[in-house]
Amino acid sequence: MSKLGKVTVLNALACVMIVFTTAIVFLLLAKNNLFTDFIKDAENKSFDYRQKVLAGRKDTFLAKNNISVVTVDDVSFEYLWDKYGEWPIQRDVYADLIDYIERSNPKSVVFDLLFIKSLRSSPAGDKKLIDTVNKYDNIYMAMNFDNIPADARKPAVLPDRLSVNVDNQSDSNIVSNMTFSNCRTILDGLLDGKAHIGIANVNRSTDGIIRTISPFAFYQGKYYPYLSLLAGGNFINGKLSKNYTINNKSELITGTKQIPLTKDGEAILNWYGGSGRVFDMVPIYKLLLDIENGQNNYSFKNKAVYIGTTATSLHDTKSVPVSRLYPGVEIHATFLNNMIDNNFIRKTSLAADIVICSLLSLITILIVSASASAIFATLSTIMILVGYIFVTYYLMYISNLWAPLVMPAIIMIITFALSYIVKYIIKSRDFEYQYKLATVDGLTDLYNHRYFQESLKQQMDTAKRYGTNVSLIIADIDFFKKFNDTYGHQAGDAVLRQVAQVLKKNVRMSDIVCRYGGEEMSIILPNTNNKEARTNAERICKAVAEKMFKLSAAAESHVTISLGVATFPNDGETPKELIEEADKGLYRAKENGRNQVGAAK
Ligand code: GH3
Ligand code: MG
Ligand code: MG
Repeated sequence: MSKLGKVTVLNALACVMIVFTTAIVFLLLAKNNLFTDFIKDAENKSFDYRQKVLAGRKDTFLAKNNISVVTVDDVSFEYLWDKYGEWPIQRDVYADLIDYIERSNPKSVVFDLLFIKSLRSSPAGDKKLIDTVNKYDNIYMAMNFDNIPADARKPAVLPDRLSVNVDNQSDSNIVSNMTFSNCRTILDGLLDGKAHIGIANVNRSTDGIIRTISPFAFYQGKYYPYLSLLAGGNFINGKLSKNYTINNKSELITGTKQIPLTKDGEAILNWYGGSGRVFDMVPIYKLLLDIENGQNNYSFKNKAVYIGTTATSLHDTKSVPVSRLYPGVEIHATFLNNMIDNNFIRKTSLAADIVICSLLSLITILIVSASASAIFATLSTIMILVGYIFVTYYLMYISNLWAPLVMPAIIMIITFALSYIVKYIIKSRDFEYQYKLATVDGLTDLYNHRYFQESLKQQMDTAKRYGTNVSLIIADIDFFKKFNDTYGHQAGDAVLRQVAQVLKKNVRMSDIVCRYGGEEMSIILPNTNNKEARTNAERICKAVAEKMFKLSAAAESHVTISLGVATFPNDGETPKELIEEADKGLYRAKENGRNQVGAAK
């Protein structure tokens, strides 16, 4: 194989190696937690941006019509301190509050307060709250599971009525991150009463931001429902369920609505806006003032009323996609809101993700391979990427679909870079092939006449500048016409090829061996004086004469050559003169009987 042929194969090999190496690097990265976490976090962030842009665009009036949040805000907190001189306040205050709210017939009253014991709490006050709660059947209360060691707090045994049955027909894990060994219950007496009690635990992503809610938690061998799942069941279906089904599409069925769950059994919340902007917010002190003055300024007819703290001084704020400071009570209200609107976020399936990545990658390859201009290809790729970002935005806006953004973008960028590398390797392969076609003789694989002329001129110019010699040898096969006549043209071609090889083998790396024309070959010997060139010519002449040339599978023959030598600057100043002088030497060799180097003039 020729030197150039080898380079071409190496280029092709390089293409394969690049693709192969990239695939391996990707596989290794996919097994690396840091990398996958990075992708996950980045994807989550892209979700947050979409949610932030979308927040407020959704019809939040629906939320205001359906949900009120009675809040212990900063102003109310001041009011409570002034009035009661403590926080938490005595529990009987809530008893009056419940009676007040229930007067206007709300659908449900949902407490995100744990009724922590106040300093001045009295058994009579506690009993008043328990009795009041038990007067109604639409009161919901929160409880928190945790993993406090059993010797620090004895795990409570919960009454049977609080647990639910889950029939899981999907491959989602019902409670992947929600299995607990202990719990922080609410006031004894409430547990066994009529109040519906749900779990108020929330999930955090790896970056600490709350994006999802698990509808169930697992404790002491039983499933317990999430606070707002209970409240939502009542709101939507008018009744509570003891039995839940997760269908084979990983949807939690609640009456006529389906809550899509992730493989970890979590519902992805659709966030409508920052704190205080989505729900009808009522400071608790306004209601307490109403109660004190015997007035009735607030109506909660047909609403779900959430009661919780939003005061920054109470530090009960969490980070969610649309806000760094978002009160837990509004997180719970958001779940109910999503349930009413059937608006939970659904993630695209793995199969869809793979199709998206492949499609974008294919488009990128097509753009790069089809466009002649690098600027055009870059701009088009960027436009496709930006277009895709808009598509993911509208998918979330129109159909609550979370299509991946980060992985497709990374794959597009990598495909873009790879496509360019491959494109240039192919281009350089093509260039080398064209260069070879233009400079190399097809029969002998020696440089052609054009290359010879250019090289000779170049070498002579260099020699002139540095004051050195260049020698030229011209060789011609003896009686080749006759040889052709005797053995045929094919055999002649075979001899030509083999003579070329002998010439190549008997010169230095820096010497340039060319096919001058017909059966004449020329050798340019840079930096070589006449004496050295003659010695070289003699050696070549001898090597050809001694070689047995294979003509075909059966026939062999000897061949001889005659050679002429000329050296710059003594024998000629220009290429033309030098070639003429070498030709003269060749002629003298022929005259003198062939198979020899022509004598110096
Ligand atoms: P001389 O010793 O004087 O050089 O005798 P010659 O027969 O070799 O004479 P000349 O150099 O004038 O003849 C060139 C011959 O070389 C003519 C042609 O038949 C043959 N020849 C030239 N190119 C090729 C080729 O590519 N293949 C083959 N097989 N023969 C070629
Ligand atoms: Mg000839
Ligand atoms: Mg000849």
